[in-house]
Amino acid sequence: MIPLCDVNLQHASIMSELQEAMQRVLESGRYILGPEVKQFEQEVADYCGVRYAVGLNSGTDALHLALRALDIGPGDEVITTPFTFVATTEAILMVGAKPVFVDIHLDTYNLDAAQLAAKITPRTKAIIPVHLYGQPCDMPAIMAIAEQHGIHVVEDCAQSIGASLQSQKAGAFGICSCLSFFPSKNLGAIGDAGMLLTNDSEVYSRVEMLRRHGGRVKYYHEELGVNSRLDELQAAVLRVKLRELSNWNEQRRSLAYAYNVEFAAVPEVTCPSELRDGTNYIPRLGDENSFLKSVYHQYTILVEDRDAVVKSLQDDDIGCAIYYPVPLHLQKLHADLELPVGSFPNAEFAAARCLSLPMFAGLSSEQRQQVVSCVKRAVAKISTA
Ligand SMILES: *Cc1c(COP(=O)(O)O)cnc(C)c1O
Repeated sequence: MIPLCDVNLQHASIMSELQEAMQRVLESGRYILGPEVKQFEQEVADYCGVRYAVGLNSGTDALHLALRALDIGPGDEVITTPFTFVATTEAILMVGAKPVFVDIHLDTYNLDAAQLAAKITPRTKAIIPVHLYGQPCDMPAIMAIAEQHGIHVVEDCAQSIGASLQSQKAGAFGICSCLSFFPSKNLGAIGDAGMLLTNDSEVYSRVEMLRRHGGRVKYYHEELGVNSRLDELQAAVLRVKLRELSNWNEQRRSLAYAYNVEFAAVPEVTCPSELRDGTNYIPRLGDENSFLKSVYHQYTILVEDRDAVVKSLQDDDIGCAIYYPVPLHLQKLHADLELPVGSFPNAEFAAARCLSLPMFAGLSSEQRQQVVSCVKRAVAKISTA
């Protein structure tokens, strides 16, 4: 059995430190927004190269509160990708704004910056680029367009903590950015947790207030807030895991490059490309990319007859997953946008063919080769059938 993602394996290597951290919190008697959260916020801010961090209940809350802090609401439009997790557009709907989609680039699965300017209207207030599967979007291009039009950029970094572009960390480009510590993310808690990052002191203090029922002083409330505070227990666990993150991310990248080498001779499999100086490129083991460092939250290939490949992997007890089978513009949730099939052909193409393969620090090369031979056997069967 090879799982898609194995958090137990990660935890096993640091179990005594995790237990010590949990014990420390249990005995402290302080469980919400205490010293662990404060230190974790500072450590993540330093790690990502930003000034401020606010610990929250989830990545979804981080997106929601980012838009609240930027005063985005009814009548406003927010541009994003249709090929992402639903939380991205949920946040837009929660503040009463309208999501406007830009199609993806098929090589990187990320919002295609070349199609962005055409979607900007006088109502556009923000762009939410999603660094999908851990690969940073083309941020220099997106920031240039946003600055030209005076539009905010809120980065959805739920899948990309530690990724970088031209030595700048994902999450340090826009006015603010949103992290998720959902257990299966590259830096995962043992429950729900999230964070907002920003260099802007006003956004920082507004989100810091919103997370605590909209008040800076206890029992004095300035505006409608929410309860979205990070637990001490989660912060203490995440602090231990943060120390391992760079190492784990390096392992993920090597694993992805090794998969690329093994799939190079398999024309039925399209490997994920990386953006390098404006072009897209499939890196191999040993290729150093100083322009961009993806953290491969997922290793996602495209295959034509996906159902047959999934079946073959399942028969061999190998984990795989489809992120995401239905692009957001075709979800019932967004029926009122009246965007028919064909509106975003690249997102639809990817949604019909994408398949994520086992990807986690500690996956052995034998296991990886087993995954590759299973996929190879499946596509060979399909082409001779
Ligand atoms: C996981 C995820 C979120 C939401 O994070 P939660 O912590 O689960 O609320 C948002 N956007 C993307 C792209 C994600 O993958």
